[in-house]
Amino acid sequence: MKLLVTGGAGFIGSNFVHYILGEHPEDIVVNVDSLTYAGNLENLRAVESLLNYRFVKADITDRTALQPIFEEGIDVVVNFAAESHVDRSILEPDVFVKTNILGTQTLLDLAKRYQIQKFVQVSTDEVYGTLGADGLFSETTPLAPNSPYSASKAGADLIVRAYHETFGLPVNITRCSNNYGPFQFPEKLIPLMIQNALQDKSLPVYGDGLNVRDWLYVEDHCSAIDLVIRKGENGEVYNVGGNNERTNLQVVNTILKELNKPESLITHVTDRLGHDRRYAIDATKIREQLGWKPKFNYETGIVETIRWYLSNKNWMDQVRSGAYQSYYDKQYGER
Ligand code: NAD
Repeated sequence: MKLLVTGGAGFIGSNFVHYILGEHPEDIVVNVDSLTYAGNLENLRAVESLLNYRFVKADITDRTALQPIFEEGIDVVVNFAAESHVDRSILEPDVFVKTNILGTQTLLDLAKRYQIQKFVQVSTDEVYGTLGADGLFSETTPLAPNSPYSASKAGADLIVRAYHETFGLPVNITRCSNNYGPFQFPEKLIPLMIQNALQDKSLPVYGDGLNVRDWLYVEDHCSAIDLVIRKGENGEVYNVGGNNERTNLQVVNTILKELNKPESLITHVTDRLGHDRRYAIDATKIREQLGWKPKFNYETGIVETIRWYLSNKNWMDQVRSGAYQSYYDKQYGER
């Protein structure tokens, strides 16, 4: 099977490339990424010399750059490429609409023209909006996105759905809860807090810190997407989550405890605009219909993740200094 993975230099995409090449060494992966600030080829060092892996620097809105890849023959598209940070979407919504909606539509058009076998859109539970103290998001929960990020992801989901309904394109949409694990860009909660705590800097927690997220180890997300590629029924949406609801304060306190740092480092800062209170996923459908089961327990997974960042300080330093951005030039010539 030949897979076109977009956004494969980012956090989940790079974990997914490792996962596929490890689990299915007979598969071929073409990784297309435009290398925004969030794309880091260092994440892929361990696979870059494999003969069944190739990197192409291209933007998913650039049809001309993508077309030759489709012409080579692609079986499956897995679309991770996105602007993914809610705070940035509040400051600069336009690039979110361009990449997340227009980029997805460009890929869909090529997927249709070259008659690919499966298009998997990697979406998020944030498209459902926010929950009160009770209840879970199911696949039939109405879309009610609240941030420009989640609205752009919801827009992409709808255009993916339309390509199935109108043109019969074989698509699936996965909607996963918050991921944690190696290679996450340190603007996101867990790596940001680890980095600040290690430097005895304050840990900025939005509002009262009681916003709840449902955490899933990134490899469990990858195994869910892999199952959807191979067994997902065309046109279906699958929620993915591990029933690990934790408040942001709980997550931050676990990090402090593991690093042996005082709780006094926590500083409550003005809440994020439109901050969703609670996300929690009902993943019954993917568990029952596709037999997906997460492997990682949150308590051990989070500690392993903290230790990964501790033992990969070089990676962290390169990201923080921006040095990783020169890696492409060194490896592949001028940008
Ligand atoms: P990320 O920001 O770490 O990575 C995004 C990648 O996309 C980067 O490598 C970036 O260079 C690339 N990219 C951005 N714009 C591009 C463009 N126009 N053309 C080509 N490449 C481009 O994001 P992530 O956390 O790995 O998330 C990956 C996907 O999973 C996103 O679609 C996101 O919405 C979804 N998702 C993330 C989470 C989470 O917890 N992180 C949860 C559910 C769903």
